[in-house]
Amino acid sequence: MAEPGGAEGSGAHPVAAVSGSASGIGAAVRSRLEAEGFRVIGIDLRDAEVEADLSTGAGRAAAVTGVRERCGGALDRLVLCAGLGAHVGGPVVAVVNYFGTVELLDGLLPCLEGRPGAAAVATSSNSAQMGPFRDHPVVAALLAHDEARVRELLEGDAGYIAYAASKHAVAHAVRLRATEWGGRGVRLNAVAPGPTRTRMLAATEEHPLFRRGLEDLPMPLARPADPGEVAEVIAFLVGPGASFVHGAVWYVDGGTDAAVRPDAF
Ligand code: NAD
Repeated sequence: MAEPGGAEGSGAHPVAAVSGSASGIGAAVRSRLEAEGFRVIGIDLRDAEVEADLSTGAGRAAAVTGVRERCGGALDRLVLCAGLGAHVGGPVVAVVNYFGTVELLDGLLPCLEGRPGAAAVATSSNSAQMGPFRDHPVVAALLAHDEARVRELLEGDAGYIAYAASKHAVAHAVRLRATEWGGRGVRLNAVAPGPTRTRMLAATEEHPLFRRGLEDLPMPLARPADPGEVAEVIAFLVGPGASFVHGAVWYVDGGTDAAVRPDAF
């Protein structure tokens, strides 16, 4: 059998770790990579090989240790999808979305290093650019890895700032890592999905405030994505066809970002 996904020499079953694997986009990525022949180590609150709560530092450390143990220190792909929607509200949204992404990226980079075709994808959102987040204090505190300051700034936040700022910071963090990760032979990219038919979108649609925001979004393709459509792009980005794509943020949003910011690319 040909080695899946270009992970030559890594044995019959190259290994991928996927956070948020129990639901939505993460579950679709899991199925997609398993169909390619990967052994998937899922990370989630429940129904996963590594059950960990990414809202705490201890949970994030346990997630890194759990994956490291299960992959024996050799990981071929890493896809980080775990996240909380704006509807949840408060600092926990930013903590899970940002620290639950970058601490797994940084903690698992040594396991990816040296693996043929090693690659990772983090999940941002097209909401990352729907506001003045470039110089936002929450983004600055996230990038400074100052969790106490993030929690202080977001106390009482309804959820939108925590969500969009954390997704802006995730994309920025991916680009900030491009030089080091490239030098260590591991590709790293981000996807920025638009509305996608998952539990998170269903909860957002039920929220009185955020439902209006969704209704106002220009959507050139006039529908939300199926989780499999986002997983397909993620699978491409971690696969051999994307061997020169690195440090990029790929919008998978049916054209919304183009409609909102046509001159930003
Ligand atoms: P989902 O709610 O279906 O799945 C999210 C998963 O993350 C769940 O399995 C959940 O248990 C897990 N998770 C949440 N908090 C956790 C914690 N503290 N510790 C461990 N795991 C935790 O949502 P989804 O839509 O599949 O979202 C996947 C990613 O895509 C998220 O990062 C989300 O922000 C992003 N995204 C989604 C949309 C959308 O419209 N669905 C749009 C843009 C970006």
